[in-house]
Amino acid sequence: MRQGLSKGLYIRGKQCPKSLWLHKFKPELKDEVSERQKAAFGAGTEVGELACNLFPGGVMVPFKGLSIAEQVTRTRQAIANGEDTIYEASFEHDGIFVKVDILRQSGEAWDIYEVKGSTEVKPVHMDDVALQAYVLRNAGLDVGKVNLVHLNNKYCRRGNIDPHELFSIADLTKGALEKQEEVAYEVRRLRDMLTGDMPEVGIGRQCSSPYDCDFQGYCWQDVPEDSVFELNGRGIDPFAYYHRGMRRLEDLPLADLNRRQRLQVELHLSKGERINAAEIANFLEDLWYPLVHLDFETFMAPIPLFDNSRPYQQVPFQYSLHIQQAQNSSIEHREYLARPGVDPRPGLIEGLLREIPQDACVLTYNMAFEKGRLKELAKDFPDHAEGLNGILSRVRDLIVPFRKRHAYRWQQRGSSSIKKVLPAFVPGLSYKGMPIADGGMAMAAYHLMCAERDPGKLAEIRENLLAYCKLDTEAMVQLLEQLYELSQV
Ligand code: SF4
Repeated sequence: MRQGLSKGLYIRGKQCPKSLWLHKFKPELKDEVSERQKAAFGAGTEVGELACNLFPGGVMVPFKGLSIAEQVTRTRQAIANGEDTIYEASFEHDGIFVKVDILRQSGEAWDIYEVKGSTEVKPVHMDDVALQAYVLRNAGLDVGKVNLVHLNNKYCRRGNIDPHELFSIADLTKGALEKQEEVAYEVRRLRDMLTGDMPEVGIGRQCSSPYDCDFQGYCWQDVPEDSVFELNGRGIDPFAYYHRGMRRLEDLPLADLNRRQRLQVELHLSKGERINAAEIANFLEDLWYPLVHLDFETFMAPIPLFDNSRPYQQVPFQYSLHIQQAQNSSIEHREYLARPGVDPRPGLIEGLLREIPQDACVLTYNMAFEKGRLKELAKDFPDHAEGLNGILSRVRDLIVPFRKRHAYRWQQRGSSSIKKVLPAFVPGLSYKGMPIADGGMAMAAYHLMCAERDPGKLAEIRENLLAYCKLDTEAMVQLLEQLYELSQV
């Protein structure tokens, strides 16, 4: 039986034929959809709807409640009725069904506008629009321009969203037309593949590029703990070793590794550590008191939610501070979590400027992130630039001794991330079991909080967010204490 294809299935098959085969014949093996992925789908829909405002007054061909044949007929009727703008225009050729986000008449021809929530054109987008052009042309439509509508990351919101400023339009006509033969070939190849048994495809870079495949739970189930994929740093291809049967760190030839990778493998095998007390002491000498441990949580949105923000800008909505006046003095905790639905930054800035002592050393973990946010806050809220730049100039980075391997334990698994360093140096403190256990989950929780109306659920989300951010700075407090101890060894 000839298998039907759609744009999504074509792209899936091009990424990995096995993924398409599994999707068709073993869909029950798919991974569960995470809250983060659900949020991304929702954001994509919102971007698509907003892009329709670039060409208002069109007619929509809905997906819900209509069969493929009905959607195609509705589109034909809209064209026959003289409509010049059709949203979700639907076409079918040779069992391949596509929906065009925006189809717009231009003279005798019809221009395709495919809408993406990205801020640039990616190679996979060319395959996407090439397939659309292939189906429309073969369905008898005179295709004019083939365009990709994507977000303009330079756009800064001021008042109501202006779609003409928010979106950029890239003309991909030439590339899409050049790919027409390739599309015909790929369609045949995928159809042939679907007539056979599951193709043998080993795990590889295609599992997460261009998209995260949703069969990773199935295909990666035999990857052992301590696999070659734990190896940190560049220069070697872990897939090549894996497929040659060197699946664990211990299988890797040390001569192939760089200095840091060798250290990771050697200490993994010996379950050992490397501590350089003198270098740790040097690092500590650069700190002073009062000392404030600072951590931000941020959200990103493709369509800027507030004035003075840009697509996908990391907007801080929460901070946690642990403040210590002297090395052995008691520690005070301060925190801020914005109310949902209001710009979190004015309240956050006010809190930071009020609570961080003017002469304090400001310690962060991986300072590029916090510094980036402070710089943006200073730029977007120039009235507070002086105070924020003052904080910025006093930021120091707790990751340094761990990243430089002055303090390294095998449990870090080659990583300097706080999530890996904490269990290695402070096993009593853990993110395990927390309802929010990483920055991505915190971001998803913020979006949930903004949509939630139930006071009980809202309170629960707030409590979880506060607990997570607090643990980040608590972890820093304890790691710093550990460094002081290790510097004495
Ligand atoms: S997990 Fe990788 S190998 Fe398995 S189907 Fe997906 S892309 Fe293909």
